[in-house]
Amino acid sequence: MRNALSNLLDRVVLGNSPTRRLWFARRMPDSYIRNTQRLDFRTTVRWVASRSAFYRRKFQEHRIDPAMVKCPADQHELDRPGPPLPGDLREAHDPGRLDDHDVEAVVDRPQLGFETTGTLSPKSKKVFFSLEEMRDMGRDGAAGLWALGVRPEDRMVSALDLSFWNAGPTLRVAAQTLGCLLIEASKIPPAEFYERAVDYRFNVMVVEPSWIVSLTEIAGKRGTWPVKLMLVGGENMSEKSRRHVEESWKTSLYLTYGQTESFGSAGTECARKNGYHLQELKFWFEIPEPDDQGHGELVFTTLSRRVMPLLRYRTSDVARFMEGVCDCDLKMLRRISKIVGRCDEMVNCGLGNISPWMFERVFESVSGLAHDWQVLVTRPGLRDAIEIRVELLEGASQGSVERAIRKSLEDLFPDMARNVSMGLCEMNVAGTARGTLRTGRKLRSIVDLRKTLFRAEAAVPSATPA
Ligand SMILES: [Zn+2]
Repeated sequence: MRNALSNLLDRVVLGNSPTRRLWFARRMPDSYIRNTQRLDFRTTVRWVASRSAFYRRKFQEHRIDPAMVKCPADQHELDRPGPPLPGDLREAHDPGRLDDHDVEAVVDRPQLGFETTGTLSPKSKKVFFSLEEMRDMGRDGAAGLWALGVRPEDRMVSALDLSFWNAGPTLRVAAQTLGCLLIEASKIPPAEFYERAVDYRFNVMVVEPSWIVSLTEIAGKRGTWPVKLMLVGGENMSEKSRRHVEESWKTSLYLTYGQTESFGSAGTECARKNGYHLQELKFWFEIPEPDDQGHGELVFTTLSRRVMPLLRYRTSDVARFMEGVCDCDLKMLRRISKIVGRCDEMVNCGLGNISPWMFERVFESVSGLAHDWQVLVTRPGLRDAIEIRVELLEGASQGSVERAIRKSLEDLFPDMARNVSMGLCEMNVAGTARGTLRTGRKLRSIVDLRKTLFRAEAAVPSATPA
């Protein structure tokens, strides 16, 4: 929840004007961001402590005095009896378990509700907001669109799924604040979209990655129209797919990063397309346990929300903070890298430590592949086996695709190729028809099927006690 001072600046001084917001964003000193974060963090902690039995219980369990907490990892304040904050409140917000607490975590009257699209939990989590929080997102969203080049005279179309998902509604309020035309097609089949959209000459398109790849294929046969820019959200997109779409439409495609829990975008690319600038006045981002290269799970605390504030919420997304300062208008906002994978998709197996970005690189040079792919890790006998499932374009042959994948793996990751040639791990490539891998909105890139086996083994003692 916002401190009165930062609220005044945001609502009254900056207001609805995207240009004023950008003017301010270009000039605000780093100390302003950090001070505002600290003020709003403390206000949020006190707000949930006064309103929510769930948070009070959590604070008590971890022996945290909400009145003393100043920042998410404030060791000095929390190093009194009991464990320090890192790790503890993150446990409380394991995304897989939020649904058990969602009612208790709502601390003010909700007016809007949505569901998460995460892949960790079989049950979707429910997240609630107020109308004012929606308008708040709209003001920032409008500034973000303006920074990328959207203007009131543009004609925008949204092909985002509208069912239980908040990406569409946040885009709507951003477009309303900006004042441009927005038509919401929702996520209809690309062929139907093409038929119905072609007359409007939309020059700004907001889409999902796998959907735009399919639309691009149709447009490749029937013709594109001039598009100023595309905005893609909801899922990671490989650079290969981005280039393909950009070249076909002769446009610029920008990615945004966010999730239902963050309500709209938590980060956005700028014209440099080199990492996501983070919305640091609305969230406190951390990577509490980075590896040698700085990669780790991104954790955030909401700083402006009243209805369902989230403290140290685990996103399951693995990224790193980027070094250096970008030379764009959003340079004061720190960047994170593209998401390299989900926590549950970073798998150690006979092939090595694998994660989704590696396969994306392997597929870069392979022709004949459609957008979707999935890797299964299994253990049929004593050794691990990797099944690489790829969707093939029309006319592509399974044999040549498999050869190209093996060659690319050898060039890029020789250690892994060696593990295969040494017989430490079997590797198969299975080509399937387009559109067969995806069953929901998101497709899990790496699935470790050994988990079930390991879990069953763990339940049985390996030796009978004498
Ligand atoms: Zn930038």
